[in-house]
Amino acid sequence: MKMLKRNIMSVFILLIFFTVGVVLTVTKHNTFYVFNFGYIGTSIALGLFLMNMEYKHARRIVQLLVGIYMLVFLGLISNENMQIEGFWYYLFTGVFEAATIHYAVAKIFGPLFFGRGWCGYACWTAMVLDFLPYKIPESHERRKIGYLRYVTFALSFICVLALFMIKPGNMARVMFISFIAGNIIYYAAGIFLAYKFKDNRAFCKYLCPITVFLKPMSYFSLTRIKCDKEKCVNCGLCKKVCPMDVDITDNSRSRKNGTECIMCMECAKACPKKAL
Ligand code: SF4
Ligand code: SF4
Ligand code: SF4
Repeated sequence: MKMLKRNIMSVFILLIFFTVGVVLTVTKHNTFYVFNFGYIGTSIALGLFLMNMEYKHARRIVQLLVGIYMLVFLGLISNENMQIEGFWYYLFTGVFEAATIHYAVAKIFGPLFFGRGWCGYACWTAMVLDFLPYKIPESHERRKIGYLRYVTFALSFICVLALFMIKPGNMARVMFISFIAGNIIYYAAGIFLAYKFKDNRAFCKYLCPITVFLKPMSYFSLTRIKCDKEKCVNCGLCKKVCPMDVDITDNSRSRKNGTECIMCMECAKACPKKAL
């Protein structure tokens, strides 16, 4: 019973994901959905369980389980373009399938419940970037280039719109090639920025187009890390280890970089007073 109580969040996640999978399987007559959501839910639940056991690589394991599944199995083997370009493509065709469902669940409505958990535990771009040497950014001062995310967001939209208007012969093939090309560009830009700014998550902070969806939705997130002011001794360790430069000791939603928290729990692990 004590074990179940400790892992109630894992059970909750499992139930949510399997419920979504079953509902989609029944409504869309496709058993893929129960497999897909079941797999992702089980991976996240396993990660939360390992976190409770204080296993230090728990988050990385979830990132790899989900990230490789989405990049290799869904993207490369099943030819589903889960990038933002794939989302625009399916949106234009009016098809509520793979990428549109993925965006609705993980990046548009999901952040209302679990904030930017996607960025901390599932994104296949960050899965690679998190292997780079600058896990803690050299400087927590943000550069004033955050507007670039709107440029990449607009570019991704315009490129797919142009393709849609040109109507090349084999659109599915074109979307597959764009998935490969898009990933290469995003990885190259992410690695370049990480080394340039000595910050693994520089791409997430300045260039990632998906944050245009994620940031406003996560502002209203039900799940948030809070600081117990009674316990906090203002040692500043939590801010020092944060990969996203969030001041988590400020509990207000409008705190500096407030929509940037990726729920990685590095601050909570570092806090000597267990105030987070
Ligand atoms: S900000 Fe973008 S690249 Fe970074 S983890 Fe989130 S979705 Fe992935
Ligand atoms: S505030 Fe904590 S959980 Fe959020 S990104 Fe920073 S270290 Fe991770
Ligand atoms: S690490 Fe803990 S005690 Fe130190 S400032 Fe952060 S919340 Fe407060």
